[in-house]
Amino acid sequence: MADRTFCAELTGSFSTSAAQNPTVAIMEAAFADAALDFRYINCEVPPESLADAVRGAIAMGWRGFNCSIPHKVAVIEHLDALAQSAEIIGAVNTVVIDRPEGGPRLTGENTDGQGFVASLLPVRDPAGQHVVILGAGGAARAIAVETALAGALSITIVNRTPERGQMVADLIDAQTPAAGRYLPWTPQLHVPHGTGVLINATSIGFHPNEAETPDVDFESIDPGTVVADVVVNPPETNFLKAAAARGCTTLDGLGMLVNQALINARLWTGRDLSSAVMRRELEEIFGL
Ligand code: NDP
Repeated sequence: MADRTFCAELTGSFSTSAAQNPTVAIMEAAFADAALDFRYINCEVPPESLADAVRGAIAMGWRGFNCSIPHKVAVIEHLDALAQSAEIIGAVNTVVIDRPEGGPRLTGENTDGQGFVASLLPVRDPAGQHVVILGAGGAARAIAVETALAGALSITIVNRTPERGQMVADLIDAQTPAAGRYLPWTPQLHVPHGTGVLINATSIGFHPNEAETPDVDFESIDPGTVVADVVVNPPETNFLKAAAARGCTTLDGLGMLVNQALINARLWTGRDLSSAVMRRELEEIFGL
């Protein structure tokens, strides 16, 4: 009894809607597995309450929090500093609250792309690779910046809306060492020869639209290409099934989610938590 305390360290997530976000389940399972007295609280926070939620987290001594839709850009005005990739991406999914003398200091990180790169590394180092990304939204932008910072030679953005695609390609070209270019999404997209990594970073295939598949000519994909999908529900998308049938190594969206959570946990606790515990929790949630 003498060593027992009754005040856990707090972390969590601010978003709306929060109900379908499984991150709380994997964080709490991994905290418990590591016998860390930390909690993760999934909070429903509408846009007009974001400032109060941030103030509340500071007031209650939280170690940090995740921001999901729609707060990833809006949260920036409440922070003191941005990490390099968050600055380039222009969005924050993780906030770390430090408490030096003189008052709390909030730093914004973007670990979406870092989680992707961590899940990619065991099967393909992005350094020196030509990377093709389908999509130009938040996930695509984070993956593009992080694979570029990890040493990719070129990042080709393929997107339905040309302006958004061109914008991300220009960002890569201007702010990272990689060459960025935009490729219009023509029907039955021909994947350029020499592509080392192909990623679906659109929401195509997400439940309840799991029958939909990005419009790609799978015959044009080199079997040596690593093919990844960011969609987590279902983890085994039609896109990945078609790529596997072509002989490609595939990566599902759960790997990105787990690795992102591991990085967040390290930022908040200084500890490496168990990826196996997180993955198992997700597989249970998705009935795998
Ligand atoms: P955004 O809304 O920011 O971007 C969506 C992207 O998908 C845009 O490029 C959009 O194109 C494209 N798109 C959507 N529908 C279609 C369609 N029918 N045909 C062609 N293009 C389409 O979303 P996010 O980037 O935030 O999220 C994208 C996906 O990534 C989601 O499924 C999300 O759940 C997943 N995700 C997974 C993570 C993980 O850890 N595994 C982490 C973060 C996100 P356009 O610009 O033309 O509208």
